[in-house]
Amino acid sequence: MQQQFIFYFSAMKGGKTTRIFQRIHDFEENGQRVCLIKPKIDTKGGNCIINRLGERKEVTIFLSKTESLLTKKKEKLLTNYQQIIVDEAQFLTPKQVEQLWIINKSKNIPVTCFGLKSNFQGKLFPATTRLLALADKIGELDSNSICKCGRLAKFNAKKVNGKYTLFGDEIEIDGVNKETEYVPLCGKCFYEKVVKGENYEN
Ligand SMILES: [Zn+2]
Repeated sequence: MQQQFIFYFSAMKGGKTTRIFQRIHDFEENGQRVCLIKPKIDTKGGNCIINRLGERKEVTIFLSKTESLLTKKKEKLLTNYQQIIVDEAQFLTPKQVEQLWIINKSKNIPVTCFGLKSNFQGKLFPATTRLLALADKIGELDSNSICKCGRLAKFNAKKVNGKYTLFGDEIEIDGVNKETEYVPLCGKCFYEKVVKGENYEN
């Protein structure tokens, strides 16, 4: 069987964590050991991922931006696992995505990355560019993220002090900085509330 490199994406609050818990459960029930990786930049939940019910799963590798997955030590660790799952994969560096792909292809360990497709400007994250390019399989998760107008939300708009904005840092974690919040919006509302009237070219 081909051990695939898979990228699943959804909007924020789209039910990714629920899917990750489900997937880990399914694998472990079949006796497979799962290595769970999370980029350290996502400080929410510390070295755990937490689902809506408040259940926690400790991550195996809490990966900082400068860390490589191709060190001897990490490669040795990874060979103890039959599955690799990555949460918040949009926060990896493009290099780390390439490292995961190399591990997948050289060691035949299946890798499933979960993350966001686009940032608050409606543009791909650097990691997502690599994920879309390298993945054997790409899937959009059935989202339960609904825009205020009732349509499915596909965009993650940023609000600072209650106002939508196209500006500022790409990475500001929801809830950590009190003035910043992210709001899932459909394409039409993203255009009307965030983009319209702004200089959106390039
Ligand atoms: Zn809408």
